[in-house]
Amino acid sequence: MSEPNTAEIEAVLLAATGVRFHAVDFLPMDPTALGMSYGCIDLAAESDLRRAGRWDGRRPAVALNRGFITRLAAERGEHPNRLALAVSIHESAHALDSEPPYYTHPAGSGERQARITRLALTLRPSGIVTAGRPWAGHGPRWWRLLFHIAWRVERLTGIELPAAMLSLGRYELPPPAVIRRAFGSEPRRFRRLNIKEIKRAAYPRKFQRLWASAVRQHVAAETRRARNQRGTEMSTFFEQLKQRLGSRPDQFADLAKRVADGDAIEPAEAEAVLSTCGKSVDDLQREVEALREKQRLQNVVRNAADLEKQKASIERKLRLLSEKQERELERLAEKHLGQSDKLENELADVQRQLSEANAAKRRLQRAAAERHSELSREVRRAEHRANEAWQLAYECQGQAAEDAAYDRRHKRLKQDAKAARNEADRLGQELATAVERDAMA
Ligand SMILES: [Zn+2]
Repeated sequence: MSEPNTAEIEAVLLAATGVRFHAVDFLPMDPTALGMSYGCIDLAAESDLRRAGRWDGRRPAVALNRGFITRLAAERGEHPNRLALAVSIHESAHALDSEPPYYTHPAGSGERQARITRLALTLRPSGIVTAGRPWAGHGPRWWRLLFHIAWRVERLTGIELPAAMLSLGRYELPPPAVIRRAFGSEPRRFRRLNIKEIKRAAYPRKFQRLWASAVRQHVAAETRRARNQRGTEMSTFFEQLKQRLGSRPDQFADLAKRVADGDAIEPAEAEAVLSTCGKSVDDLQREVEALREKQRLQNVVRNAADLEKQKASIERKLRLLSEKQERELERLAEKHLGQSDKLENELADVQRQLSEANAAKRRLQRAAAERHSELSREVRRAEHRANEAWQLAYECQGQAAEDAAYDRRHKRLKQDAKAARNEADRLGQELATAVERDAMA
């Protein structure tokens, strides 16, 4: 099927939804609206429809703004009837989003309601069909009906209707194509259900999650906006308050401070301030005294703080000094103890060695003395024997001639004497050596 004209759109909508719609494209409309769905459009169009012989009682209707649709379609390189079809589906979903018979029963007479509806189409007052921010009437049920009707229309006409064309507004929601995907195969599976049944069915889980997340994001954004708004209001309030207070200085307090600081003030000026502020001289005096006392106390506190600092500094130095002294004493004591230990050990060692040496010396002296007396005895014995030998040799000398035996005996005795004499000499020598050695020990 080629792009349907307005009459053909009515047939397509009937086939897709089972509901007979008036598609009206002759009523004056808000130039910025592509189409509108409003409960009483049929009443607004009634007289024209009657003239054309098309009026057969009240029916839901969609209004199309042919002028704007044609302009926008040209801008987009789109066939105007295709865009008109998409707009009709969009608006029919709005009508079907309400309860049957999908149009509002007029409270007043037909003519009165018709006039109100004509006005509404021209002015597009917000909130007529688009209650509930930010999706403004484009809630879950509307999106579901939109994609169900579009799926059916695509099947009937063979005309592809992209999600973005079916809904040109964003309404702080995910892109229309994303929402359409969240319904998955539902339009095909529900192809035999009527509008009432579709509306009753539970939403696909994917769509539920998507919508919940969109709502959460919207609420978070709203909260942020509200907070920023409140913050701005509050800072503005304080800014204004500051300006007001700033422009009216406390003259009395200022005067008292100047007096307390010792400034020279004309009595006339002080009098003027007191009368302006409704204060007495006593008030001023009290205030000045209070200020001076405060200054004095502040000075005391400041001085006390300085003294505390000095005290802490001195204490710290003393502590460091005493710590240093203690460390020095400890170091000296350790050194001293170490040295005396060492010396005492050395002393003990020397004393031990000395006593050993003395003992050895005593032993040596004793041995030498013993040896000496023994040698002396032997010397004396040898000398005695030599003397005896010499005596005998001398006695025998005279008889030598007489007796050869005596002669031989004489020779032998002489030899003995000589040997004894040598022995005595040797022993004497040894004694001298021993005595000399002992003396040196
Ligand atoms: Zn809409």
